[in-house]
Amino acid sequence: MISIIPNRAPVMQEVLYCPQCAHRLHQAIPDGDHAERSVCSQCDYIHYLNPKLVAGCIVEYQEKILLCRRAIEPRHGFWTVPAGYMENGETTAQCAAREAYEEAEARVDDLVLFASYSLPHISQVYLLYRGTLRDGAHAAGSESLETRLLHAEDIPWQDLAFFVVADALQRYLQDRQRGHFAHYDAVVEHDAQHQARLVSYSRVG
Ligand SMILES: [Zn+2]
Repeated sequence: MISIIPNRAPVMQEVLYCPQCAHRLHQAIPDGDHAERSVCSQCDYIHYLNPKLVAGCIVEYQEKILLCRRAIEPRHGFWTVPAGYMENGETTAQCAAREAYEEAEARVDDLVLFASYSLPHISQVYLLYRGTLRDGAHAAGSESLETRLLHAEDIPWQDLAFFVVADALQRYLQDRQRGHFAHYDAVVEHDAQHQARLVSYSRVG
């Protein structure tokens, strides 16, 4: 599951009551801290809000790219690469491989980190790998309407679900063309019309 660049305010993971003692939380700057947090005056619990990590993978097989058409919101019916929120206890590469299997029943080998995107306006970080489909087999998982292996010229650019996916796919195809994959580190924000745009990026390699 991926939920990048929906046209709405960031999910703040707001918690009203203390998960330790159920006392009502209030806003305060804890001693030695620099920012306001939700804190519990009863047991001194501090509720930290931190960014969510999403990992995914551009999966290739015989020069074709594996895309999934989303069966869930946001962006139901639009195309994406397999990606989703990390689970506790797994690595970023394990998350990317797991999402490929859950969303596309795809077994992926040779995972290499390709691009990272910081999205501070929604407090999310995306780590996109590249990898190869093991045996050509793929099928729609429960979060996908269908999956397809597509040549570059058949990628539905107008129907891609998310800005980051489109940006990463473009860079991937450019790099494949030149015969060398770099690593990208990018920052994406919303403009005044809530359209995602690339603020900056660096390339290594
Ligand atoms: Zn408490």
